[in-house]
Amino acid sequence: MSTGEALERHECDLLVAGSGAGGFSAAITAAHHGLDVLMVEKEPLVGGTTAYSAGVIWIPMNEAGIAAGIADSPAEAMRYLESELGSFLDRPKAVAFLAGGAQMLAFFERETHVKYLLMDAWSDYHPGLPGASAGGRSLLPLPCDGRELGDWFHKLRAPIRTMMLFGGMSVSRDDIPHLLNFSRSPASAWHVAKLVARYALDRLSYPRGTRIANGNALIARMARTAFEKKVALWLDSPLARLVKDGDRVTGAIVRRDGREVEVVARRGVVLACGGFPRNDEWRARYYRHVAAGKNHQPLAPPGNTGDGVRAAREAGGAFFVEQDQPAAWTPVSLVPQAGGSTVPYPHFIDRCKPGYIAVDRRGRRFANEADSYHDFVPRMIAACEGDPKVEAYLVCDHRAIRRYGMGVVPPAPLPLGKYVKSGYLVRAGTIPGLAAALGIDAAGLERTLARYNEYAARGEDPDFGKGTNAYHRFGGDPLHKPNPNLAPIVDGPFYSVRLVPGDLGTFAGLATDARARVLDVNERPVPGLYAVGNDQASVMGGKYPGAGITIGPAMTFGWIAARHAAGIAAPD
Ligand SMILES: Cc1cc2nc3c(=O)[nH]c(=O)nc-3n(C[C@H](O)[C@H](O)[C@H](O)COP(=O)(O)OP(=O)(O)OC[C@H]3O[C@@H](n4cnc5c(N)ncnc54)[C@H](O)[C@@H]3O)c2cc1C
Repeated sequence: MSTGEALERHECDLLVAGSGAGGFSAAITAAHHGLDVLMVEKEPLVGGTTAYSAGVIWIPMNEAGIAAGIADSPAEAMRYLESELGSFLDRPKAVAFLAGGAQMLAFFERETHVKYLLMDAWSDYHPGLPGASAGGRSLLPLPCDGRELGDWFHKLRAPIRTMMLFGGMSVSRDDIPHLLNFSRSPASAWHVAKLVARYALDRLSYPRGTRIANGNALIARMARTAFEKKVALWLDSPLARLVKDGDRVTGAIVRRDGREVEVVARRGVVLACGGFPRNDEWRARYYRHVAAGKNHQPLAPPGNTGDGVRAAREAGGAFFVEQDQPAAWTPVSLVPQAGGSTVPYPHFIDRCKPGYIAVDRRGRRFANEADSYHDFVPRMIAACEGDPKVEAYLVCDHRAIRRYGMGVVPPAPLPLGKYVKSGYLVRAGTIPGLAAALGIDAAGLERTLARYNEYAARGEDPDFGKGTNAYHRFGGDPLHKPNPNLAPIVDGPFYSVRLVPGDLGTFAGLATDARARVLDVNERPVPGLYAVGNDQASVMGGKYPGAGITIGPAMTFGWIAARHAAGIAAPD
């Protein structure tokens, strides 16, 4: 402001910018320890990418796992991170994460509304590496009733539209097997009937279902706790820049109601603005395929433009990009909407089911479709190296699509005609016809299928090894024999959905230490300044070891930052 007028001032102990998992974790922990906390959120809605997410956290040695007899230890978890991250391991941060994670979760389970369910069969993503676990490090948030948030339910960011059923029904990761089996199992039919009946009732009074799941439930549970602990939350109030007194960050300028407000933060500022996945310029600089002029589709909400990173750099913080990958990748399809726009849909599950392959425009497979979304995308980018754009084609037959669906296309008995009509789903009676409709090489696709089908019938995949590890099998169909990830693609008509590269959020971020303090270029902490969640360079070094490796650390470093700001000893 250049008017010469004194700025409106607001005082607090801790200022937290951003209302995702990282921000809420810091705010709740600080408030619990007696600090006066102000959260500011740039958008008119609460929850950031976290509200879009599955909300899964990767927390080795969690109490539920120990109680269930899961064999794990800090040494094993560290061995896994060492073998997975290699030279990208930041040991002090990894030690702090592993030491703090289980304590953080115990705190949330004990003192807040946040509740998690152990996923004891959800294998780490590279189960062949030393120290990997076949299940029990990943946990899923328990669904909750959005009505418990009162009017704030309307301010809670809804999941991505393509990820809800019937335009507004939340589906938990735990509901999916029931949805796939509801016509086969009475227990699943009952589960689905209850979900749909509740949803139908809700829609008489609410714009979407009030039984909410996944990251939406996590944020609802966190917000409810934060309000009970007297955390103040300003929406539509972006942190614009940090304020320093000498070396120390003493607060920030926040834009609110068209005015600039100086927020004085006696114990410091926590940046939790969710990284930079929606910053076009930075994506073009740091994502190699985008730098090469290729297409990309972020999934994060529009506010995640790197404000926290920019503000910290202006205040002397260092940006750390030496990571294996700059972002967490996922293949996405683009779902046409009325009016001509598209909404992305991330392909986490369908690729792994028996009877699906992904091919490039030469009709060749290029990856193990049952590998993680993060591993799949670099292979897709490499397969399209000389092509004008990155695009792959997920292919299946009629039997598979009616059994498992594909992308947003639901399984039988729900109809699929409208997806063909909209152009989302490509259908043809023959393989050459499908290739022609997709504009890809027909002979190449026929060759690929001839080879794939021969081996798939025997449950083998000599080219990519589908179904050879616990993670593949977790995503497959346990009832399908002999290999839960493989089935021949033979029963026409045949179907395909186009896949493009997307991301779940950024990994490159601010350099921080084991206390989540932002470091300057000389690796000294900037006093009073913390970064958590995707504003901080990922402790996973750009790798993706298991389900929940962004929100688990986001919550852990939020908890660590708040305890440090509150003057409580960090965990050993
Ligand atoms: C479909 C999907 C599924 C996913 N599933 C999982 C999963 O199960 N487990 C997992 O670990 N990860 C998952 N991820 C990734 C995960 O959601 C993100 O990595 C994580 O939520 C980031 O948390 P955060 O707190 O850093 O940021 P966010 O949750 O994005 O919150 C950041 C907030 O900061 C706000 N903000 C931005 N700038 C400012 C400013 N200047 N002032 C104030 N506020 C600002 C933003 O508006 C936003 O609300 C998934 C992502 C997607 C898209």
